[in-house]
Amino acid sequence: MTTMKALVYATKGQPVLEERPRPQILAPTDAVVKMVKGTICGTDLHILKGDVATCSPGLILGHEGTGVVHAIGASVTTFKPGDRVIVSCITSCMTCEFCRKGLLSHCVDGGWVLGHSIDGTQAEYVRVPHADGSLHRVISGASEASQTMCSDILPTGFECGVLSGRVKPGSSVAIVGGGPVGLGIVLTAQLYSPSILIMITRDPNRLKTAASLGATHCIPFGPGAVEEVMALTGGRGVDTVIEAAGVPETFALCQELVAVGGTIANIGVFGCKVDLALDKLWHRNIVITTSLVDTVSTGMLLKLMDSGKIKTDSFITHTFDFAEMLDAYSTFGAAAQHKAIKVIIDF
Ligand SMILES: [Zn+2]
Repeated sequence: MTTMKALVYATKGQPVLEERPRPQILAPTDAVVKMVKGTICGTDLHILKGDVATCSPGLILGHEGTGVVHAIGASVTTFKPGDRVIVSCITSCMTCEFCRKGLLSHCVDGGWVLGHSIDGTQAEYVRVPHADGSLHRVISGASEASQTMCSDILPTGFECGVLSGRVKPGSSVAIVGGGPVGLGIVLTAQLYSPSILIMITRDPNRLKTAASLGATHCIPFGPGAVEEVMALTGGRGVDTVIEAAGVPETFALCQELVAVGGTIANIGVFGCKVDLALDKLWHRNIVITTSLVDTVSTGMLLKLMDSGKIKTDSFITHTFDFAEMLDAYSTFGAAAQHKAIKVIIDF
């Protein structure tokens, strides 16, 4: 049997590199992709900690990356072996009731499956179900490493933050959480020209990166954050506040920052219940949204990347060979210490 190296979620907290059988085409709509560039997501760290109950040990992690189509099933029509592709974090059949409504993340035979319920992209080869609806062609106007940001973090920031948060020209926006998704929001919110774009996060290095990407104000997360935002907005709060951290303290801050008539757009992956201060919010005409990325904006974001209007090169702080995957996890797992934003894996 032909084997490959793969990064496996073994027991809580511990990723291991293992020899695994190469994936085969199982359904006519499948493709097998030979990986070229990969990366690690904060969600992978959550899985390793045991926060994602739906994920079982033994699974190959990863839902991002680019590669070359190695083999296709009989009914794949859009891609052929040899095509360079981006693997989307969301797998979609494009024909079920949810896909037809644009809710690809809830595809009845897909959604977020890679590195979640089936083996993922942190391996030399990956089987991608519903290849026609789940792969994108790489573009020539940006490095393949920067295009891995289109697998997950850029569409997530744009769809679940900017679009769900109803960012409008001239509006005021605050992003709570400076991880790769939060920084992706800094980039893509500017497509709608907000007048104020505030980044609030703990990590001073990420505040600096947010400023370089176009955030107008960078505020350290802490007790003074509310006062600073109120000073910037004439005491009103912000029209859009985007939760991109996923802990009770950050969601509490979002509730304090939202202006009358504003929107709290939640992206954070919550592993616990959180308080909703309806006693303070019931009369403020606000909207709270929750969303899982549908990746319906991926093609548009790739066009903007191809034309140079969106640049994600500064997200890439570290590069590792796949053989050094465990070092890549240690670096990304202690991101503040290593000033890491996105680590790129070369296969
Ligand atoms: Zn579907």
